[in-house]
Amino acid sequence: MPQRSDPIPLETPLSSGRVHVIGAGPVGLLLTALLQSMEGFSVRLYEKRHEYTRTRMVQLAPYLVADSVETYRADPIDGDSVHAIFDPPELEEGLAFRQSIPPDLMALLRNWALGFCPLNSIERSISDLIDARGSQVVERTSAVVTAEDAIAMLEPGDVLIDATGSNSLLRDHLVPRSNEMNEGANTLTFRLEYALVITFLYGQPYDCNEHCKYYKNIENARYKFIPMVHRTHHDGSVSHVTGIVNITAEDYEAMPSRFDGEWLRSNFPSVAQSMDRFIDKIKEETHGEVLGDLEIVRIPLDLYRARNATSRQWLVAGPGDHPFANSPVFLAGDSAVGSPYFQSISLGFECAMFLSGLIAQRDAPLREMLDRYELHTYKQWLRVYMRSKMIKHNKDLFESLDDPLALLDKLHIY
Ligand SMILES: Cc1cc2nc3c(=O)[nH]c(=O)nc-3n(C[C@H](O)[C@H](O)[C@H](O)COP(=O)(O)OP(=O)(O)OC[C@H]3O[C@@H](n4cnc5c(N)ncnc54)[C@H](O)[C@@H]3O)c2cc1C
Repeated sequence: MPQRSDPIPLETPLSSGRVHVIGAGPVGLLLTALLQSMEGFSVRLYEKRHEYTRTRMVQLAPYLVADSVETYRADPIDGDSVHAIFDPPELEEGLAFRQSIPPDLMALLRNWALGFCPLNSIERSISDLIDARGSQVVERTSAVVTAEDAIAMLEPGDVLIDATGSNSLLRDHLVPRSNEMNEGANTLTFRLEYALVITFLYGQPYDCNEHCKYYKNIENARYKFIPMVHRTHHDGSVSHVTGIVNITAEDYEAMPSRFDGEWLRSNFPSVAQSMDRFIDKIKEETHGEVLGDLEIVRIPLDLYRARNATSRQWLVAGPGDHPFANSPVFLAGDSAVGSPYFQSISLGFECAMFLSGLIAQRDAPLREMLDRYELHTYKQWLRVYMRSKMIKHNKDLFESLDDPLALLDKLHIY
């Protein structure tokens, strides 16, 4: 095996077969499960958390389990962007990869694309599946990995994947001399708005469309409670409802990161009033009750991407002592691209599928692997950027529906 002093040229394929995945959130776990099922790889998975506690309800996009270009493009907002951004062979390659996903994992993905489930149940299911497979053992390390640890663990020919989420461990280290760069220089961010994400359980079936959103908000002049279309899931006798309320930067600063309905009523009565009006109208229609507490988090809705999603710049800079000049590093999931409006896990899973397909092509030169991942991530970014801007624009228009002049100000025709 080449030593560190024998840098791996860009034309050389991967040699060691060892893959380090840092971060066992949904994306790191999916990558691990995909690579585990491929011949010739040994995967090491590093995670700092001891248990999976995030109970928020999430849903995966049906395109993750699509079996044809038509079903892949079925989403009305996303479909045309996909057609515009990806060439037909790229779409075919993605669909062919889905066919190769082991049935145990595919069954889980199909199930999650049908309806809501708690984030920690996605994490636990993939984690248990990894441990239960007898074939290839994944070496797990329970630790907080630092950037220095990550750099030190790399042998030439290893692959390193940073799946550590939005506060990525390595994003700022992917460019040579990044120590001299400003923190965040490798990140392009658009802050779309600040929002409260309000989740509750409701003891009756409840569904909502755009008309319902409008009529239930008709008396809410300032703050509107907007449940996501398809964001309500009737699970037996209980509906999970998730909605967002746009707040100001000042509101955001004055709130703790998470709280309940009572806190909101005492501290931000006008926001709470909008939410309660909406809920009262649901109750009037369907004669049910909210079960338990409202769970509220306040988040900035950021749309961002890593300008470099790989260590390509290190490898291009030529042979050097730094391990990133000799081994490919990839960002995956929220580490690479982040988007609001409940689409991030699907985007991360899509990139994870592409990345594991690339890594599986062990004969491909490194240059090609890095270039292809950069291009794919960029295209996925364009796709989610367009979708997010469209949703935000529609939301802005919706919030001005009762004020024609304000509405007209937001229209850009020609
Ligand atoms: C309120 C809210 C609601 C959301 N709802 C949805 C939704 O409905 N649908 C959707 O698609 N998305 C949703 N999202 C976004 C979604 O949760 C994230 O996109 C997703 O969790 C990202 O997955 P990931 O694996 O990339 O990163 P993460 O989930 O952030 O996982 C990163 C992992 O890395 C570990 N880690 C980090 N640093 C280190 C380190 N130094 N050493 C070792 N381990 C480390 C962390 O402990 C964690 O386990 C929501 C987000 C919020 C805040």
